[in-house]
Amino acid sequence: MAENKKLFGTSGIRGLVKDEVTTELALGIGKSLATYLNNEGTVVLGYDTRTTNQMLEQAICAGLLDGGINVIKIGMVPTPLLGYATDKLNGDAGVMITASHNPSQYNGIKVWNKNGMAYTQEQEAKLEEIYYNKDFKETEWDKIGTLSHNNEIKNTYINDLLNTVDIKPGLKVVIDCACGAGSEISPIVFRKAGCEVITLNSQADGFFPGRNPEPNEANLGSLMKAVVATGADLGIAHDGDADRMITVDETGKVSDFDKLLALISKKFGGTVVTTVDAGLCMDESLAEVGGKVLRTKVGDVNVAEVIIEEDATFGGEPSGTWLHPDFCMCPDGILSGLRMAEMVSKEGKLSELLSKFPDYPNIREKIVCSKEAKIKVMENMENLLKDTFDDIKEINTIDGVRLTFEDGSWVLVRPSGTEDYVRITLEAKTQEKAENIRDICKKIIEDNI
Ligand code: MG
Repeated sequence: MAENKKLFGTSGIRGLVKDEVTTELALGIGKSLATYLNNEGTVVLGYDTRTTNQMLEQAICAGLLDGGINVIKIGMVPTPLLGYATDKLNGDAGVMITASHNPSQYNGIKVWNKNGMAYTQEQEAKLEEIYYNKDFKETEWDKIGTLSHNNEIKNTYINDLLNTVDIKPGLKVVIDCACGAGSEISPIVFRKAGCEVITLNSQADGFFPGRNPEPNEANLGSLMKAVVATGADLGIAHDGDADRMITVDETGKVSDFDKLLALISKKFGGTVVTTVDAGLCMDESLAEVGGKVLRTKVGDVNVAEVIIEEDATFGGEPSGTWLHPDFCMCPDGILSGLRMAEMVSKEGKLSELLSKFPDYPNIREKIVCSKEAKIKVMENMENLLKDTFDDIKEINTIDGVRLTFEDGSWVLVRPSGTEDYVRITLEAKTQEKAENIRDICKKIIEDNI
């Protein structure tokens, strides 16, 4: 559909609600999904805390019912609960209305498969085709879908989570839900799991008055202070829909995303899936336990697909989006937080657990590059890099070009999906080597745009 705007990014429809994610669009997505499902079956529908959610939910619901689909509404829930409910309630698909970590005025629509895994790009492309062709199959008055509500699934989810982890009692945890969809359930789960819980930004509010919903260091000042001030063992921060989490250690420091992912991955062992931008500590820590790391395209659905194909034990992105295939194929920030709490309660301070991973020099740089130049420079990037470096151990071209060198150092040259940049991300064993790789890659890009 080259002439049409792409509705779905790597993580569902995203946009400024009044401009892009309108009720008309939501109605059309409802009808498109009903058509895609051949006008039969059940869809589970949920939303996060945003102000426009109920408006969009009613529009999607109308489109689904019109197309003969039975709808189960589960209300305001974290995205992982929507994924879980789609699976447990035998839904044929799930729809979550959320803009994840984006600011208040944004909203979006994300579709899920019956096993709780996000729709793949191919599935999204099919929905887009139906939507733009207005190829809707509607039903007669006597075939309209039925509507029901389910509140009980929240309790089933909570109980299932509690059965998955075993946290030593008495752990003191500060939880910062950003006033997002984790606000209601995440603190309850940690309390029931035996933790002493202090909450921050845990009143549901679509204006996100406490902090920006993206859980990064710049937005987590209050949590960092609260962990230290209360003498907590652990801080946990969710994004707006709680499919992500990041930890703050007992000293008030936001954990290094790569090291945290390496720490939990090592626990699972075996085959672990991550994305091309994840660091060297993943490979080193998995190698220690005889496991291996597979790297795929950026985007949690890509990680989920490879987990299933390779029967992997675990998968995650450095952003804190972790997938636990032993529980559900939807990324789950609450379960991720519980697993970190379990580890800290049994193995000791998080700062010490993370200090076992070496600090390698890393560099992230972006080079301004027009859309056309981006395509041109990336076309030949693999050969250009191959001709320049002589100690390459492995080349991965699944998403940009990623070189791994003989000593484990690596570099990723990848065009930005949304902005006019080519990014260089790298990690090397020495600062000198890091700067050298950066200078060479930068020159190659600049000489070829
Ligand atoms: Mg999210």
